[in-house]
Amino acid sequence: EPLHAAIRRLGLRLRVYAPVGELVPGMAYLVRRLLENTSNESFVRHRFAEGRELDQLLVPPRVEELPGPTEPTRRPPTDPAKPGRYDPEPTAEWRRPSVRADFAAAVERVAEGLGPGPGRRPTTVPALLDGEEVTTGEVIASVDPGRPSVVVAESAACGAAEAAAAVEAAVAVAERWRATPAEERAAVLFRAAEWLRARRADLAAVQCFEAGKPRDQADADVCEAIDFCEYYGREVLRLSSLSARSVQSPPGEANRLTYHGKGVAVVIAPWNFPLAIPTGMTTAALVAGNPVILKPAEQTPLVARALVDALVAAGAPRGVVQFLPGWGEDVGAALVAHPDVAVIAFTGSKAVGLAINQQAATPVEGQRHVKRVVAEMGGKNPLIVDADADLDQAVPAVAYSAFGFAGQKCSAASRLIVLDAVYDQVVDRLVGCTRELIVGHPSRPEVQVGPVIDADSHERLLGWVDRAAAEGTVRHRGEVPGEGWYVPPTIVEVDDPHAPIAREELFGPVLTVLRARDLDDALALANDTDYALTAGLFSRSPAAIRRAAAELRAGNVYVNRAITGAVVGRQPFGGYGLSGVGSKAGGPDYLLQFMDPRVVTENTLRQGFAPE
Ligand code: NAD
Repeated sequence: EPLHAAIRRLGLRLRVYAPVGELVPGMAYLVRRLLENTSNESFVRHRFAEGRELDQLLVPPRVEELPGPTEPTRRPPTDPAKPGRYDPEPTAEWRRPSVRADFAAAVERVAEGLGPGPGRRPTTVPALLDGEEVTTGEVIASVDPGRPSVVVAESAACGAAEAAAAVEAAVAVAERWRATPAEERAAVLFRAAEWLRARRADLAAVQCFEAGKPRDQADADVCEAIDFCEYYGREVLRLSSLSARSVQSPPGEANRLTYHGKGVAVVIAPWNFPLAIPTGMTTAALVAGNPVILKPAEQTPLVARALVDALVAAGAPRGVVQFLPGWGEDVGAALVAHPDVAVIAFTGSKAVGLAINQQAATPVEGQRHVKRVVAEMGGKNPLIVDADADLDQAVPAVAYSAFGFAGQKCSAASRLIVLDAVYDQVVDRLVGCTRELIVGHPSRPEVQVGPVIDADSHERLLGWVDRAAAEGTVRHRGEVPGEGWYVPPTIVEVDDPHAPIAREELFGPVLTVLRARDLDDALALANDTDYALTAGLFSRSPAAIRRAAAELRAGNVYVNRAITGAVVGRQPFGGYGLSGVGSKAGGPDYLLQFMDPRVVTENTLRQGFAPE
């Protein structure tokens, strides 16, 4: 009060911070203010406690005297005998000149091998069948979505014959691989992680061309692949040490719970996380003791092939990892239908996932097991902005969640639900923020939004963009380059939450915005969907955060942050409802889906020992 009085006497305007609300967050706010105002670097302290001159304090910092950034240190390879704690692979720090230069050089190397030029041929991606590279008469071209005239790779187009041969080879090694100690299986994953780490920039650069991923997202995808190897390697060790201790053994009885590979595993992967997702499913199945047949997406065989190279270089025995590129309806369907396949790990669209689930449920003549299906499918993910949200934080995070990788993430925000009180402000600011996004070829470092994956997606999404005006009010439609499969980032306000644009998974840079009266209305709108994959809330109200955590129907709920970018071992990822069946990837329950538990009970009372 004496300060108030003094300031008033000087005739100055006075503003008083008064946190209003619950005690604990209010205290936190007060502590933050105190820390800021009393810190050694605080202007208030320098001026008023230390009496430094104002002119001196206002001098711009002398940039030339700042220390240069230190070089990043590369992690040592994991020692299979002492793996230690799992820590995610740090993503690239683009502020470091050396990191930027390495990546630019990798992009240049990849670009040099592509494109028109005398004698240049696209890279060939053969199948790997029982340890042998196999080509097929027909090939599938994967092209650069940012320059579709450029063929990046030509992969084999495997069919039913290759599928049958691969299953036979896998059956032949299944028993031996199942009986291989968990430590040896884990060691393969740790060595594969190191192989990927050593080639990180090159592997990411390929994604800029074959998958249309901007560099930060491509780098994050490679990091996630490394994470899966490191995490599942440790997980199988945890499970095998736990299993001996996790059941009771009363005096006179020894009980042992152990986990065993289920048998031949088929992995069917999408193109949108072209290295990370195949790696997650493949390494989990493999380390759990199953031989794996990987069927990559047609659009990204070259990226996926690196995983197989990594596993082979890491010592995966012949036949334990096989690679069958080809069309989903051909080789994919043949693998799913094969009676000797025990487990199918699928990530992709709802339609294909449900069909696989249905087909796998019916045993065929001679089949002696029920197939296990782990299916991760689509989403139509809601993100709520509450009336008291910090909009400086919310708006860029919404734009990133909706338009990062051109909205082609299963976790992308596609329904923004804004409370009435801040609706106009949020939409205006979001439009402004989206207008600033740089759309272009992902090989350029500044690009934030690349093309969509193929001609079909391009045509389908442009159809939705055109239709947006009929289903709502288009608030923003961005500019896109002429060549390439680019779709303008689009924001459309919708009154009817049942409009198809607000309900169907579009899988592109199209964001629908809905207005909610209050939090009840917002939560009801958010949950009114068949999917349950990701959801989010921006709010400063502890009560609203509690409600969202309890009531939002989604496998992954994010509060006050973007809703994409789950990290292995931190945000185990996956949905329920029509978004998926199975436990979360990158989480402690995942490996169990690839194993059969067995319990051996032995009566140890008065048996003695017979001589051997
Ligand atoms: P998609 O379903 O078209 O294809 C996925 C894979 O299935 C491809 O390898 C394809 O060749 C194969 N396939 C297609 N038809 C098949 C058949 N009849 N039998 C066997 N295999 C067949 O999906 P996509 O376009 O590659 O990926 C996009 C979809 O994936 C989106 O719906 C997205 O939400 C979903 N997704 C989900 C997650 C998740 O974790 N929940 C992650 C990434 C992508």
